[in-house]
Amino acid sequence: KAKKQGRNSVQVFTHEINTKLTQRLMLRNDLQDAITQEQLNLYYQPLIHRNGVVKGFEALLRWQHPVKGFISPGRFIPLAEQTGQIVALGQWVMKRAARDLLALSDSLPHDCLISVNLSPLQFHRADFLQTLAETLEATDLPAIRLELELTEGVLMNDTEGAIATLHRLREMGVHVAIDDFGTGFSSLSYLRHLPVDTLKIDRSFITHLPDNRKDTAVVGGIIDLAHHLGLTVVAEGVETREQHQTLAALDCDVFQGYLLAHPMPYGSLVDWLESRKLEPV
Ligand code: C2E
Ligand code: MG
Ligand code: MG
Ligand code: MG
Repeated sequence: KAKKQGRNSVQVFTHEINTKLTQRLMLRNDLQDAITQEQLNLYYQPLIHRNGVVKGFEALLRWQHPVKGFISPGRFIPLAEQTGQIVALGQWVMKRAARDLLALSDSLPHDCLISVNLSPLQFHRADFLQTLAETLEATDLPAIRLELELTEGVLMNDTEGAIATLHRLREMGVHVAIDDFGTGFSSLSYLRHLPVDTLKIDRSFITHLPDNRKDTAVVGGIIDLAHHLGLTVVAEGVETREQHQTLAALDCDVFQGYLLAHPMPYGSLVDWLESRKLEPV
């Protein structure tokens, strides 16, 4: 009987792998169409200074599949990274985000930033800086209005090459943020070698504030350290008033999360900005 069960579980297992592979292959072809057939969209989530001023917006990719419906970036970005399609996707995101921000500039604070997530694959390409410079030129977006979000992992492998690229970005005037900070198992001391502007504390450290005293201590420590290094600190995933108050008391500079605003389509941004004039958070 054991033998029979064993064979069955192998079959189930193989079946699962086949299904996963097929799904991935299908998704891969569909993603190609998505880029050309305008199934992609950008949502924008506000980042708000402690004084209430809008610091900028993070561009977040959305895919409305014609048959499967909404597919979350958590699913298709890793796939696009495996296939290399992220390079074309990333290029599309950069252009669209730049154009959207510029089209809104009359309604925005003059130094408002657009934050774009960057895949390691984009960052490590030999033509990365060249392509970026060309995109800025083509869209007329001033470099100082752009912030690139990179995860710790990007900077950990090939640290020297990464640091050289970061210096070039700084010379251009492009801001750089470390995204999902705290999830990468990197030593804090490496931060002092990195020419970056902003540190975004990952949502997993924010979720249990203020009840979890260890998390509160860790977040407070990260904020102090970042400030000593001259960095601006953003808290990701702020969902409750209690979290907001705790973070403000810990001296956090900028807040992002559902409490302040959900990511929204471009068409809703003007209304959102207007509503804030009446009822500032
Ligand atoms: P991320 O860069 O850390 O973006 C923040 C994520 O947290 C977004 O998920 C956002 O919708 C979500 N979020 C914001 N506030 C809250 C909150 O209060 N509570 C909760 N539970 N979640 C919140 P989203 O849009 O699903 O994106 C997931 C990830 O996909 C992003 O994480 C980023 O790593 C990646 N991604 C999205 N767009 C792009 C893109 O254009 N290029 C690249 N390379 N990656 C992207
Ligand atoms: Mg991000
Ligand atoms: Mg993040
Ligand atoms: Mg995150």
